Amino acid sequence: MKELLLIPGPTPVSEDVLKALSQNAISHTDDRFVEVFIKALNKMKPLFGTRERRIFIIAGSGTLGMEMALTNILEENENLLVVSHGYFGDRFVEIGETLGLNVDVLKSKAGMHIDSSSLTDYLTKKKYKAVTFTHVDTSTGVMTNMEEMSKIIKEVSPDTLIVLDGVCATGGVPEKMDEWGIDVLFTGSQKAIAVPPGLTMLAFSARAISTRKEMKKMRTYYGDILRWIPVMENPHKYFATPAVNMIFALEKSLDDILEQGLDKYYEKHRMLASLTRTAMKKFGFKNLAAADIAAPTLSVFIYPPGIDDAGFRSLLKEKGVTVAEAIGELKGKCFRMGHMGSVTEEDILHALKHISQVIREKYI
Ligand SMILES: *Cc1c(COP(=O)(O)O)cnc(C)c1O
Repeated sequence: MKELLLIPGPTPVSEDVLKALSQNAISHTDDRFVEVFIKALNKMKPLFGTRERRIFIIAGSGTLGMEMALTNILEENENLLVVSHGYFGDRFVEIGETLGLNVDVLKSKAGMHIDSSSLTDYLTKKKYKAVTFTHVDTSTGVMTNMEEMSKIIKEVSPDTLIVLDGVCATGGVPEKMDEWGIDVLFTGSQKAIAVPPGLTMLAFSARAISTRKEMKKMRTYYGDILRWIPVMENPHKYFATPAVNMIFALEKSLDDILEQGLDKYYEKHRMLASLTRTAMKKFGFKNLAAADIAAPTLSVFIYPPGIDDAGFRSLLKEKGVTVAEAIGELKGKCFRMGHMGSVTEEDILHALKHISQVIREKYI
């Protein structure tokens, strides 16, 4: 039986990338590894939409990226605004509170988004050192219009640093860090970049790095970008052992993506989203987020009356297709289906066939 993993991360990993992962470990200062590390750093740049910003590749999951984004630019009692479209936006609130920041949250209803006028209101009432956004919130499938949001910040509060969580977006959605003026952007290896979980990739603007340099008290050792800058400039240097094999895998996957062309890769994501949603609509499943704010990397489908979450997902799993349960307040009402990374049109057709079978066998 073909097993198909269609959750919003981890996503399926190609044979090519598995091969890169499964070679014997070599020294982290070996020239052969250093060369691949430098290539991986450079190949992240087009995905982030940057030429100048400094890239970091660090062992740890996406949540480490979130935490590093905040610990490197904010000190205790400083003001942070979190724009939240769901569970992962809310995680920024938790991290901010753990770090003793003054956190305000601008939160949308599930499946909706924050409009630009509410952001303007918040920014005019109070001065924020930083504001965070989630490019694609993986709990609701809502995508932030970052071009619009960053334009407002540049107009209303140009000194405010902009943090963007790209964990379920980078690679699957165009990101233009330089053009939009994003200060910190990060992602994880296991979503649209199609590498197993284990790496976070980050980019910091010159402004974000000087903010870090001016900070008096640092509250992370491993996550301090100043300890990592020498390594990212010259990976022959040691700070903490990089995840050698994971970086081999990342470089391979980025190479495959860039080889086929980023625009084509984005287009594939849009096409798979549209194919999936059109077919699912025929089965009675509506996507939670409206079309103009729906992310191309995953769908969050609302169950039609009469279909129970646990039964539906377990029958589908018996047929080899794994989808994810919804999280937070949507638990039990929706399920989440990833269509990102190395997932193909054939994979989606295969999944749709099995979804149709489950509905016929159990629900009609
Ligand atoms: C998955 C995800 C995270 C968390 O990443 P982990 O690798 O699970 O730590 C953060 N933000 C978003 C938007 C995500 O989709």
